[in-house]
Amino acid sequence: MKITDILNSKKAVLSFEVFPPKTGDAFDGVVAAVDKIASLRPDFMSVTYGAGGGTSEYSAAIAEHMKNDLGVTPLAHLSCISSNRADVHEKLLRLKNAGIENILALRGDIPKDFAGNLDYAYASQLVAEIKSYGCFCIGGACYPEGHPESGTLFSDIDNLKIKVDAGCDFLTSQMFFDNDAFYSFLSKIREAGIYVPVIAGIMPVTNGKQIKRMMSLSGSTLPARFKRIIDRFGDNPAAMTQAGIAYATEQIIDLYANGVKAVHVYSMNKPAVAAAIRANLSEIV
Ligand code: FAD
Repeated sequence: MKITDILNSKKAVLSFEVFPPKTGDAFDGVVAAVDKIASLRPDFMSVTYGAGGGTSEYSAAIAEHMKNDLGVTPLAHLSCISSNRADVHEKLLRLKNAGIENILALRGDIPKDFAGNLDYAYASQLVAEIKSYGCFCIGGACYPEGHPESGTLFSDIDNLKIKVDAGCDFLTSQMFFDNDAFYSFLSKIREAGIYVPVIAGIMPVTNGKQIKRMMSLSGSTLPARFKRIIDRFGDNPAAMTQAGIAYATEQIIDLYANGVKAVHVYSMNKPAVAAAIRANLSEIV
C-alpha cells in the first residue's frame, strides 16, 4: 500500500523504524527484532539505508521481508551521495520488481573521504529520478530546526521546496524534542507553499551519551526540561529508557492532540521500546 493512501484513509498513523545489519552474521538478529516490532501492527515500517558494504542489500532484503512475510507496508530508505546513477537504478529496479511501493529519497551524509559525485549533489535529483519510474510513492527528509549544513532555516525551506516540487508525496521529519519547534516549522513550510503531509519523527531516548552525540549531527536541540532528564538519568540505562519512553509518549500525545496525523518512531531495532510506546497509546491510535 502507498503511504499516501494510508495517510488518507486513517485518522491517526503510527509507524516504526528499523536499521539493517552491517554484516551477514547479524542479519537473523535484526530480522527477529523486525518481526517483534511488526507484531505491534504499525501502519508501516521504514528500513534505513547505509551506503557501505552489504548494508544496502540487507536494507532491500528487510523491506521485502516486511512486505512478503509480515504483511506490513515497508518504506525503503535510499541515499544517493555515495552512488552513481547506474547503482541507483539497479536498486530502484530491485525495489520495483519486489513490489515495494514506498521510498524515502535521501542524499545521505557526506562521507569523510568524499571525492565528489558527478551524478548527485542533492536528494531532489534522486527524487526526480524515482518520480520518472511512475510507480513509487516518494518521501523526503525535512528538518524542523534546519539541516545542519544549511545557513538558515529559511534557506533550508527554500531547498525543501525544490525537493518537494521534484516529486515528494510526503515528508518525514528529523527527530525533535520540542513540539513547538515542529508546529512553527509546519506553519513556515505551509507559508512557503509546501503542502504535502509531514510525518513527525520522534526518538525515544534510551542512552544519554548517545543522544548528546547525535544532537551535534542532527541539528536538533534539547529543551532544558529534557536536558535535565538526561543529566539526571543518562548514566542509568534502565531509568533513562523509562524516562525516554515517557517523554516520547508525551510528545506523541501532544502531536496527535494538536492535529498532527502521523508519527514515525525511531525505534532503532528495540522491540521493547516500540512495544512500550504502542502500549502507552493503546486507546489513542
Ligand atoms: P538534501 O535534501 O539534499 O539536503 C542536504 C543539504 O543540502 C541541506 O542543507 C539542504 O538545505 C541543501 N540543499 C538541498 N538542495 C539544495 C540546492 N538545490 N542548492 C543548495 N543547497 C541545497 N541517512 C542515511 O544515510 N540513510 C538513511 O536511511 C537515512 N534516513 C533518514 C531519515 C530521515 C527522516 C532523516 C531526517 C534523515 C535520514 N538520513 C539518512 C540522514 C540524511 O541522509 C542526512 O541528514 C543528509 O545530511 C541530508 O539528506 P537529505 O536527503 O535531507 O538531503
